[in-house]
Amino acid sequence: MQIQQTNQGLNFDKYQTFETEIDPKQRAWIEVRGKALESNVRHLRSKLGKSCEFMAVVKADGYGHDAKVVSEYAIKGGASQLGVATLKEGIKLRSSGVKEPILILGNLYTKKDLIISFKNNLMPTISSLRECLICNNIGKQYGLKFSLHLKVDTGMSRLGFECKKFVQQFEKIKSFENITINGIYSHLSSADKDNLLDPKSSTQIQKLKFEELLKQIKVNSNHHIKIHLANSAGMLISKDFHFHMVRVGLSMYGYNPLAKVDKNLSLKPALFLKAKVAFTRIIDKGVSVSYGGKFVSSRKTKLAVLSIGYADGVPRNLSGKINVIHNDRLYPQVGSITMDQMMVDITGSNDIKIGSTMVLLGSDGDKVISPIEWARESNTIPWEILCSFKNRLPRVQVD
Ligand SMILES: *Cc1c(COP(=O)(O)O)cnc(C)c1O
Repeated sequence: MQIQQTNQGLNFDKYQTFETEIDPKQRAWIEVRGKALESNVRHLRSKLGKSCEFMAVVKADGYGHDAKVVSEYAIKGGASQLGVATLKEGIKLRSSGVKEPILILGNLYTKKDLIISFKNNLMPTISSLRECLICNNIGKQYGLKFSLHLKVDTGMSRLGFECKKFVQQFEKIKSFENITINGIYSHLSSADKDNLLDPKSSTQIQKLKFEELLKQIKVNSNHHIKIHLANSAGMLISKDFHFHMVRVGLSMYGYNPLAKVDKNLSLKPALFLKAKVAFTRIIDKGVSVSYGGKFVSSRKTKLAVLSIGYADGVPRNLSGKINVIHNDRLYPQVGSITMDQMMVDITGSNDIKIGSTMVLLGSDGDKVISPIEWARESNTIPWEILCSFKNRLPRVQVD
């Protein structure tokens, strides 16, 4: 195919040796800090009993950090199991060489998907007798046992067997010869918000429901079956929520899901979001900035144009509400955040130039900006902020 030459007279053949590798730090990128992840896992594990396992939840590409990198460092820190949401996420981890048990937290319900899960040595979450039967048939077909976890619903009304019916159904499931029940679990709905000292809090009620169920099926004595309930918030509430394993996402990435400050918790953010200054300019007083002209300068203003926008995953409704850091100083973002760029008021600085790097999330010197702040400002939760970052942002691994 003939490439249409837009640069008149340029002989492309002559420039075959043009550099084609783009520096991942050319415009905007996410730094993934492996050592922070490892130390967070180690720190969180130190709060667990000796025999309690740590499942690193690496769904949604490791909350946007790169699931492969997260898994590697989480395992170094002592995670012994991994949790993903989808079949594809599980297969990707298996093919990158992960040997640890992997639980698929989402629901698989077709025979085809369950066979793929089985063949890739991934454990599905089972929420019904029907799914259980399919797994048993697959095991029979291959002359093996299909490992899986059963889920019970204690208050999410999402996945899981209905508590009331489970006791009876479990008797039947126990007779299936071609499955291995590796775990029984449930999921908390409000552990990050509830007032847990109140025994009527929904989290305490969920725990009670779960414990009653376990008593009825007499499963606690069987150590092959891992019992688990806690997410990050549940894990941090109290040891009563730990059982045989905890499933930890947010806090492993460096953020406390509980509103209460905990001095005994030392977590380091594993994600830094950075972008380069692509241009600088000085505008007079009374000049409008960006789409809609919502920001008008109140004085002569120096602006930096930062190469990152909402197409990279920075929520547009944060326009004018965030700061960025450069050399231990905060600078306000001004005007509407655009698809690929945003403007920053750098009046008074003399060390910011074209090509300078600014920090949107993470820290520089004493200054720290967390996804928790972004979440508060954009009326969402830090989980959503983290998994909104697009693939356009290269993930750069640093130690
Ligand atoms: C995502 C998820 C977790 C992890 O939740 P965090 O609050 O991020 O710790 C645990 N269990 C299940 C079932 C999940 O879907």
